[in-house]
Amino acid sequence: MPAELRYRRVLMKISGEALMGEREYGLDPGMVAKIADEIRTVHALGVELCLVIGGGNIFRGVSGAAVGMERASADYMGMLATVINSLAMQNELERRGVTTRVQSAISMQAICEPYIRRRALRHLEKQRVVIFAAGTGNPFFTTDTAAALRASEMGCDALLKATKVDGVYDADPHRVPGARRFERLDYLDVLSRDLQVMDASAISLARENNIPILVFSIFEDGGFAQVVRGRGRYTLIGDNS
Ligand code: UDP
Repeated sequence: MPAELRYRRVLMKISGEALMGEREYGLDPGMVAKIADEIRTVHALGVELCLVIGGGNIFRGVSGAAVGMERASADYMGMLATVINSLAMQNELERRGVTTRVQSAISMQAICEPYIRRRALRHLEKQRVVIFAAGTGNPFFTTDTAAALRASEMGCDALLKATKVDGVYDADPHRVPGARRFERLDYLDVLSRDLQVMDASAISLARENNIPILVFSIFEDGGFAQVVRGRGRYTLIGDNS
């Protein structure tokens, strides 16, 4: 592994909302392009990269359920939204010369591969960016949990949560002046303080598999490349940290 890298194989979770930019809904092509640039830079460093992209910019199961839809059906719609985002990111990455594969937890053989763990591992070894779509494939879960699950299955060294801010705060720093930022946290701190970093099942899964979670800003130019070197600004969630 190149000496400067702290993490050799990582999974980055990008929320659907990050792809929305300033819009109210859907995809902002400029944002997708910006994130693709960040990913290309990290890929060029020799990092093996997995991506999980949320779907909240298009559809969330809970919103459907709130207007009377059956929750499971609404969740399937949410999972399809993650496939749309994954294909958008695949397209932007491939335009930049980065080879990718999309693997979906729900089979859609005309547009992407089905999720096959050993095949995904092979793609990573060949320096292909693997984008895991359709979450876990199960309703009542989130893409945060999918991210922790795939990071565990792929043997990732770290789970990177790309957000709008440079770490975990005790309150929303955009709304609460003087909100305190954490450098390091224990998994159990995040759970007991209900810090809203990722959902509880994702945190528990990362904890059981001893995968550190790094929360950083995807809007910081070059931020992703800094984080994989263990530099820059991020909050590290792990044991005994
Ligand atoms: N979803 C699901 N199972 C999964 C992952 C996602 O049912 O394993 C559905 C759920 O309805 C969720 C939606 O897909 O609301 C979009 O994912 P998420 O809300 O995690 O996206 P994000 O908040 O990251 O944009």
